[in-house]
Amino acid sequence: MALDVPVIGLEVHVQLRTRTKLFCGCGAGFGAPPNHLTCPVCLGLPGALPVLNAEAVRLAVRAALALHMAVTPHSRFARKNYFYPDLPKGYQITQHDRPLATGGWLEVPLPGGGAARVALAQLHLEEDSGKSLHAAAGGAGGSRLDFNRAGAPLAEIVTEPCLGSPEEAADFLRALHARLTFAGVTTGRMEEGALRCDANVSLRDPATGDGTERVEVKNLNSFRFVERALAHEVSRQREAVASGAVVARETRLFDPGSGATAVLREKETFEDYRYFPDPDLPPLVVGEALLAQERHRRDEAPEALRTRFRTEMGLPDYDAGVLTQDRETAAYFEAVARRCADPKAASNWVMTEVLRQVKAHGGDWTRLRVHPEELGALLAQVAEGRLSTALAKAVFARMAESGEEAGTAVRALGGPVVRDGETLSALVDEALRAQPRAAEDVRAGHGRALGVLVGEVLRRSGGRAEPRAARRLLRVRLGLDAEE
Ligand code: ADP
Ligand code: MG
Ligand code: ZN
Repeated sequence: MALDVPVIGLEVHVQLRTRTKLFCGCGAGFGAPPNHLTCPVCLGLPGALPVLNAEAVRLAVRAALALHMAVTPHSRFARKNYFYPDLPKGYQITQHDRPLATGGWLEVPLPGGGAARVALAQLHLEEDSGKSLHAAAGGAGGSRLDFNRAGAPLAEIVTEPCLGSPEEAADFLRALHARLTFAGVTTGRMEEGALRCDANVSLRDPATGDGTERVEVKNLNSFRFVERALAHEVSRQREAVASGAVVARETRLFDPGSGATAVLREKETFEDYRYFPDPDLPPLVVGEALLAQERHRRDEAPEALRTRFRTEMGLPDYDAGVLTQDRETAAYFEAVARRCADPKAASNWVMTEVLRQVKAHGGDWTRLRVHPEELGALLAQVAEGRLSTALAKAVFARMAESGEEAGTAVRALGGPVVRDGETLSALVDEALRAQPRAAEDVRAGHGRALGVLVGEVLRRSGGRAEPRAARRLLRVRLGLDAEE
């Protein structure tokens, strides 16, 4: 056997979904103009004191419980000292040496079915750094710094060195992303850097137990990049070993353009950082009350929810899968279904109309202005034949835009629903003339052809006719009882 079996361990940085930063009141959102989310604390001005964000602690505890970790009652914040322009204080506040939680595992589905458990080492809280913006090489303008992200709350999740291939590492990250997004711990928006990872890789000889030095590839922000960077690194190390060279312990960067990694610096050792407890912050004590609340809240795992949507609500597996993508979708769907009492109709609407609106707002559910109860009520009206589907869709879109109530939206869309009088009578006449075959069929006792005529009335009314009233009047005209 040779020295060629990959050994991989990941350090994953997950941005916690809080309103404000980890130690100050600045917004922790994304997309503000550079340096608009800053204050003396996150800029590291002299005399400014940090105050820990309780919501960040809650979300980190939630993540730890979702990952079957043991939460330590007493953890501690330390200063990790290093110089870099995007680090205003000259140190990062992190729990690296006394983490919030240890142990645990995550189940990762295997490509051929079944699942594997990936062992976790620890989870700790830390603050993010700022961002350097470098002008194009040779261009004017030099480098600029944006401190909006400095001090944003991160949970760093560290795996044991137990991943055996680049594909396995990427699959683990996908599973972790899904689990934590579902639990509401993070927005999961990869394009905003909500989940980034450092990948450590070495080669091992299973026969002798010998291994190469590990190399760390920093700051990978997509699943594909993690897989490609690791694949490149494994073959680079194999070539080095084959040619008799040594693999140096170093930190490298991945260049997506070339698909290769390049040396950034020699790996720092623990001593280089001169860790010491932050004198401005007391030990973090996670009380039983918080633990109990979060244990109680602990959501059904997505798989359990998916099964329940299939068995209790009778949804197809496809629907159940889409609706359990994340916690918000599942919760919204459940509330709609509860109100309208038709899970399949609720599912159809949430998968199309609702998700389209949410997507239009960049995935931000807080900007969807229609409460699920209101949508459920709208769907109940459709089910009772009091509103056409076409009009209901237009009404929903308008409610989502304007925040209006359903009644107001219906009126704003061109007057009341047509449910009697000459207008309806004229529409019914037109429909009977336009669909003589269907009218014949109904008279001959084929009741199902009535649906064609109702559809014709609705189309001619631009969706404004009340389906129930149209149906009743059609039956009368065709010589049937008004009620079925
Ligand atoms: P550091 O703090 O110096 O980065 P850690 O002990 O915290 O070191 O480990 C960091 C990461 O490196 C972990 O994800 C761990 O799984 C991984 N790791 C440790 N040993 C190896 C190894 N021999 N090969 C690959 N990865 C490793
Ligand atoms: Mg590290
Ligand atoms: Zn601040």
